[in-house]
Amino acid sequence: PLTTADVIEEHRICVCVRKRPLNKKELTMKDLDVITIPSKDVVMVHEPKQKVDLTRYLENQTFRFDYAFDDGSSNEMVYRFTARPLVETIFERGMATCFAYGQTGSGKTHTMGGDFSGKNQDCSKGIYALAARDVFQMLKKANYKKLDLQVYSTFFEIYSGKVFDLLNRKAKLRVLEDGKQQVQVVGLQEKEVKCTEDVLKLIEVGNSCRTSGQTSANAHSSRSHAVFQIILRRKGKMHGKFSLIDLAGNERGADTSSADRQTRLEGAEINKSLLALKECIRALGRNKPHTPFRASKLTQVLRDSFIGENSRTCMIATISPGMTSCENTLNTLRYANRVK
Ligand code: ADP
Ligand code: MG
Repeated sequence: PLTTADVIEEHRICVCVRKRPLNKKELTMKDLDVITIPSKDVVMVHEPKQKVDLTRYLENQTFRFDYAFDDGSSNEMVYRFTARPLVETIFERGMATCFAYGQTGSGKTHTMGGDFSGKNQDCSKGIYALAARDVFQMLKKANYKKLDLQVYSTFFEIYSGKVFDLLNRKAKLRVLEDGKQQVQVVGLQEKEVKCTEDVLKLIEVGNSCRTSGQTSANAHSSRSHAVFQIILRRKGKMHGKFSLIDLAGNERGADTSSADRQTRLEGAEINKSLLALKECIRALGRNKPHTPFRASKLTQVLRDSFIGENSRTCMIATISPGMTSCENTLNTLRYANRVK
């Protein structure tokens, strides 16, 4: 029989996959859907339903996860099974992280930040906002109310191994590690928030800061990790922290052969950080004494979330349904599979 410890262990890491619908562009170019989610925890990559000889080389591949969300699922639904259970953790003096991992265009920002397509600029339905909503709801519960907790938020970006404050006009910040291995982002703005609306405003500020001055919003955001945090403090001391991370696109393999030096370096940096992230989450899941957090800036700033008794994490691997994205999708599924 399972002991309590086994059960806790099992729930420390949750890995899910979310498939998005075929978009207009894919439909126009007659891209074909090669992803099927036959049950709530299985993802299949297969030949298109319509038989096209050209695509025969693609073997059926099946992956199992904690949850698999089909293209009809809403953010609220994905949230309920991924980040929602972690809200409790930060009230119980724990550290929680939730990552969106996947190819550029697969739905990471849609899932975490909300809907930013075209004229739609609605961040109220992203996981950042949904988590904030529930944090304020939990605060009202009698047993937490009496703790007199304050809520703060930070929002920053890691770009090419450097940290920029999205709540302070992209101020470049230094990361320091003291003798006790405590990691500090020096000068990071921590804004107090009193209600969900306060948080929505910060998300808007951070998002516009993230993309300002860029010719294409996705060109920049695909190369940076965005970290949004909800911090609970009691008498000034940290009580719990929830880090929600919209990761850089994982399709950077091609960059390593780019003619542009900067692009090559950025690509290498992203590969390095995603590899380090995988190792840190695996170490957390296996209760290993050593977490290789120094291997990248991303894992370094998240250090305190990877160690400690009460740390929990979830990963939402977002995938595109199309045949044309197949190679990236398989890479995403393999990575997510290895995290656990
Ligand atoms: P990423 O952040 O991974 O690069 P985005 O979140 O920007 O990808 O998504 C790319 C486009 O696809 C956006 O226009 C977004 O609105 C749309 N999209 C993503 N996921 C979904 C979904 N589950 N349902 C509907 N549209 C989606
Ligand atoms: Mg994005």
